[in-house]
Amino acid sequence: MGKITIQQETTIDPISLIGREAGVCWGADIADGEKNYKRGMDCLVSGHGRTWEYPQVYIVLEGYSARVIRELYTHIGGGPTRLQASTRYINYQKGFDYVIPPTIKNNEEANQIYCDAMSEIVAAMQKLEAMNIPREDCGMLLPLGMESKVVLRTNLRNLIDMAHQRLCTRAYWEYRQLMRDLMNGLSAYSEEWKYLVENYFVPKCDVSGFCTEKKCCGRRPQK
Ligand SMILES: Cc1cc2nc3c(=O)[nH]c(=O)nc-3n(C[C@H](O)[C@H](O)[C@H](O)COP(=O)(O)OP(=O)(O)OC[C@H]3O[C@@H](n4cnc5c(N)ncnc54)[C@H](O)[C@@H]3O)c2cc1C
Repeated sequence: MGKITIQQETTIDPISLIGREAGVCWGADIADGEKNYKRGMDCLVSGHGRTWEYPQVYIVLEGYSARVIRELYTHIGGGPTRLQASTRYINYQKGFDYVIPPTIKNNEEANQIYCDAMSEIVAAMQKLEAMNIPREDCGMLLPLGMESKVVLRTNLRNLIDMAHQRLCTRAYWEYRQLMRDLMNGLSAYSEEWKYLVENYFVPKCDVSGFCTEKKCCGRRPQK
């Protein structure tokens, strides 16, 4: 099961921060916390997207598959910084944890086939290592289902955009779960984040009012 840790470097008061930074440019009194919050809210409601890039988010993701991390990497808005657990230096020959999709886990026979295949991969990697094949080359056998660990630095704007895509019913189930974990983590981090999650972390059909996907889930009408 995946786990998200919100690092302490994450902005604690994203709405107020937006208001403070915008206030500098408007010649406003940025010593007044209440006014900063109100100004931050104005920037959000007005859709002044560039200001949403001030709140920074540092998170550790672990227990998610390399496959969902591959999808996470496609979100390049805001120039995120990421480091991922090495498949060259970490010794996976002893075995690795992997994600089992619910459809497989809930089917005894399918679960056996899946777990046997993972064991086969480990056995093959051990045989190759015994032949002095470099670890980075044995690692080519590692599957997309293996668990990986990532440290990500991104911003509010990128995460809102990510939510629009990845809360879509058509998105990959593990990514939707990751988004829910992220939203829970941010909501627990501070009240301002809780407000943002509740009001801005929504699927894209809630923004447009209609479904833009070819195969519609029925949540909103197609245009
Ligand atoms: C149902 C579904 C199916 C999908 N299927 C696939 C699939 O089969 N294969 C696949 O690879 N992906 C797939 N995706 C992922 C999707 O296509 C995008 O790759 C992913 O959402 C990240 O790209 P993005 O533009 O949304 O986000 P970001 O790259 O984070 O961009 C966010 C926003 O920033 C702006 N932006 C970013 N880069 C630039 C730039 N260079 N120039 C100007 N503006 C920029 C744009 O406004 C953009 O909307 C799927 C997503 C969904 C929801």
